[in-house]
Formats: sequence, C-alpha cells, structure tokens
Amino acid sequence: MKVTALAGGVGGAKLLVGLQRAVAGSGELAAVVNTGDDAIVYGLHVSPDVDIVTYWLAGVADTERGWGLSGDTFEVVDALGRLGADDWFRLGDRDMATCIYRTDRLRAGATLTAVADEIRRRLQVPTRVLPMSDDPVRTTIACADGRVLDFQEWFVRERCAPEVSDVRFTGMPDATASPGVLDALSDADVVVLCPSNPIVSIGPIVSLPGVRDALREHPRVVAVSPLINGVPLKGPADKLMLAAGLDVSATGVAASYADLCDAFVLDAADHTAPGDVEALGMSVMKTNTIMSTHDASEALARRILEP
Ligand code: GDP
Ligand code: CA
Repeated sequence: MKVTALAGGVGGAKLLVGLQRAVAGSGELAAVVNTGDDAIVYGLHVSPDVDIVTYWLAGVADTERGWGLSGDTFEVVDALGRLGADDWFRLGDRDMATCIYRTDRLRAGATLTAVADEIRRRLQVPTRVLPMSDDPVRTTIACADGRVLDFQEWFVRERCAPEVSDVRFTGMPDATASPGVLDALSDADVVVLCPSNPIVSIGPIVSLPGVRDALREHPRVVAVSPLINGVPLKGPADKLMLAAGLDVSATGVAASYADLCDAFVLDAADHTAPGDVEALGMSVMKTNTIMSTHDASEALARRILEP
C-alpha cells in the first residue's frame, strides 16, 4: 500500500510516526511537509516543520517539548545572546547542525528536496520526506495593529499574542510543488491530511498549483481533525481559523477541506454530530485521535488505512 500524508509540525509528525509503523514491511509512506514556516535565523536556513517531522520519524525528537532534538543543548544560542544577537529563536546545538548542513548544501546549489532526502537517509528514516516546494513560500501574519510579521516572529517571538487580521503566503502562486509531490499524490492508494494546523500547515501545501486538483481527483483522501470539541490540542489553530472566518470546530476544519476530502476522522470524544460533517459530502469515522503514545498513533493510522 502506498500512503502519502500532508503534514506541518508536531500534529503531523505524531500521525506520521503511526503511519510509518503501519506501513512497515508492507507499504510505502511519503510525507509532504509545509515549508511556509521556513526562515533565515542566525544566517541559517531553518525548516522547522521538515526537521520536526524528520526527527519524530527518526525517533530522535524531543517528544515532550514537541520541537527540536531530545537531549539537545543550547550553548550556541546562549552565546549568541551574550554577543547581543536577538536570541528568541531557541535553536538547539545539534538542531543547529542540521540547519548549518542545509544552508551549506543550498549555497552549493542543492535543492531543499535533495537536502531533506540526504538528512532523512542519514537518520535512517524509511519514509520519504518531501518539502512541499523548493521555491520560497513564506507565511506572513497581518496583525490587527497594522504590523505584518513573518510567521516565526508572530508564533515564537510574540507567542501568537497579536490579533490576526489576515494570513498570507508570500511567493504563492509563483511557487510550484517540488518534484515528486504531485507524483506522490497521484501514486498513493490513500492520501492523509494529518491533524496539522489547517491554515498555516495544510493551507500552504494545498495552495500550491496542482495540489488541490490532485486531491480533488484522488478517490481516497482522509483528514484527521486537529480540534477536539473546538479546542486545538496545542498551538494557535483556533485563532487562525477565526481570522480566516471559519467556524472553530471540527466541522469548520471539515468545511475548509470539503472539496478535497472523502473521509473525515472525528475524535471519539468530540460532540460534533457526524451528520454535520457528512452534509459536507464526506464519510465520518469516529475514533481516538489523541496520540499521546506511538502505539496510539499507530492504532489511529491503522484505522485510517482500513479498507
Ligand atoms: P506545528 O507546526 O508544530 O504547529 O504542527 P502542526 O500544524 O502539524 O500541528 C498543530 C496541530 O496539531 C494543532 O492544531 C493541534 O491541535 C494538533 N495536534 C497535536 N497533537 C495532536 C494529537 O495527538 N491529536 C490530534 N487529533 N491533533 C493533535
Ligand atoms: Ca509549523
């Protein structure tokens, strides 16, 4: 069985771990990962979502904190702070090595796709990790106070506090999906939209030319809700959905995917009436979606892949 999953950071990474286990030995998994959160930090090309996904799949992520590498230290960023650099982006030392490697390879002419593949192979990740695009797409947040912030400035430096008036993807639609992304979608038996942030993680991927059409044409696209009873397990999905004029609920997520999905997974504890989602033209599956362990992720993945 061939599975292709669209993912952002932590919510995506958790389900990818389960999918990777579920297909082991009997199938193939490809992850198409958001690059709208990429940034230049300390002169380095940081690809937070691509790295989070790779670290989780390699079993080296700090799963408590969600981002970065387990047991990493922060000597370099602390030293940069002492030199007077803006040190709000807490990049761990070994995590920084990944970014140094990426920056160096990009400067030598490699693509983001090639670098992501080198890194996942060296970390012995069997899943193909495909950055959504090799072109620069940057998520920016227009704030109610008039400022336009890069996504990391809003998310990390300002801790999602400024009220959002608009979310923009700079560089879209001139960007194209990276080589392999459209093939990974058309070749897949099942496409999964991970329970990632619908606006800033899945949003940029499905905005790339060709991706939305590929999903519409695909016979089996399954999405998992990142919201349970209207609340994200983590992160600012609620604020961003509100700014996008969506209902802050699983139904709101389903509505934003209505033309893309064939099936939608609601959490077992969600009070949403399945009929509200079915009315959007998709079938509904109800199961536990809280992935507090790798076993829980695998159980969810197996449910999604059931024929
Ligand atoms: P980010 O880039 O690290 O914010 O990661 P994503 O966009 O991939 O994921 C963020 C979303 O994941 C949030 O909206 C969370 O509600 C959701 N999420 C995190 N953990 C879980 C989980 O165990 N189950 C479900 N259903 N959603 C989760
Ligand atoms: Ca992210």
